[in-house]
Amino acid sequence: MFIGPPGSGKGTQALRVASRLSIPHISTGDILRAAVKAGSPLGRRVAETLAAGGLVSDEIITELVRERLGAEDAARGFILDGFPRTEAQARSLDEMRLPGSLLVILIDVSDDAIVRRLSSRRVCDACAITQSVAAGDGTEREACPYCGGNLVRRADDEPAVVRRRLATYASIAGPVLDFYRARHGPPGSEGSDTSQGFIAIDGLRHADAVTADILAFVARRDGS
Ligand code: AMP
Repeated sequence: MFIGPPGSGKGTQALRVASRLSIPHISTGDILRAAVKAGSPLGRRVAETLAAGGLVSDEIITELVRERLGAEDAARGFILDGFPRTEAQARSLDEMRLPGSLLVILIDVSDDAIVRRLSSRRVCDACAITQSVAAGDGTEREACPYCGGNLVRRADDEPAVVRRRLATYASIAGPVLDFYRARHGPPGSEGSDTSQGFIAIDGLRHADAVTADILAFVARRDGS
């Protein structure tokens, strides 16, 4: 299970680790967005909530996850990304009595670092490639080195918006983290020989180093 603030690289790491371990990457957000796009009964039920940025009900999301985890491809393991988001969802996950142990991986990055990281992110308005530029206030114009288009800062990446998104994340993730902290104690950190099922990984380093630490943690826990 991956937990981490927006801009921490959580989604990227979840995808990488799923691919390295050949297990499915189960993102509740992806499943819901696909349902909305397909206009399925589930999609029609959740479309408004998704558009408003609210949380889908615990009942709907728990049923969706229960069904997905029952699929054959999840029998050897899976990555959960975006679930559980409430303590009730965490309890429901326990009640599913899945075989094996649940590992909680927190991608830890401070708010200031995320604001810095996202505010230096630019998207080319012509070729849509994303890249990082030297810190600035976002008002200066730079040309895309690939196609010459304008590099622009997404509205979502404005520092004030990022701070708001981080505050929302903290209010939602806090209780879920407390739930697992109460069970495992405070998370171990990478490099420590933790025997716990809960680790905090410093997400500020190079993405390859983060992936390596996560895989080492999973291997240690698999072998224990
Ligand atoms: P995400 O891509 O994880 O940010 O999810 C996109 C949207 O899907 C969220 O803003 C919620 O509306 C909904 N969603 C995803 N996962 C959950 C969940 N575990 N509980 C409730 N709503 C969820």
